[in-house]
Amino acid sequence: MSMTGLPSYDDGNVFARILRNEIPSKRVHEDEWAIAFHDISPQAPVHILVIPRGPYISLADFSARASDAEIAGFWRAVGAVAREHGLEAKGYRALTNIGSDGGQEVPHFHVHLFGGRPLGRMVPPAVG
Ligand code: 5GP
Repeated sequence: MSMTGLPSYDDGNVFARILRNEIPSKRVHEDEWAIAFHDISPQAPVHILVIPRGPYISLADFSARASDAEIAGFWRAVGAVAREHGLEAKGYRALTNIGSDGGQEVPHFHVHLFGGRPLGRMVPPAVG
């Protein structure tokens, strides 16, 4: 456990490996604070993941531990990537999953950017 009560960051997660260029990705943006790349299994015509360079598990971890400069730099990158991909004209969705109820699979904080079609309901109805 870390000081925040969250689990420790796993340096072997797939996005950590993408950051270290140990596995390939289709990068569309990189700057001092963040990188962005296409999701391997796109759920919309545009589906890009934006991740901070620092070792944060989720938004919970990032908002608790990251510096003001990292937080500002990261969110500016999210907006820049959306702009660079022409998503502002018709709108888009930015989404981050946190933990098990959130459906988070990769334990490195990431924001999904979805666009290129109407995206429908914000949260699917409960099952069962
Ligand atoms: P989460 O469920 O954690 O919010 O989303 C993880 C996302 O990472 C999923 O949309 C999944 O398709 C994507 N993903 C998982 N492994 C890889 C990979 O190796 N490369 C890329 N580009 N995306 C991946």
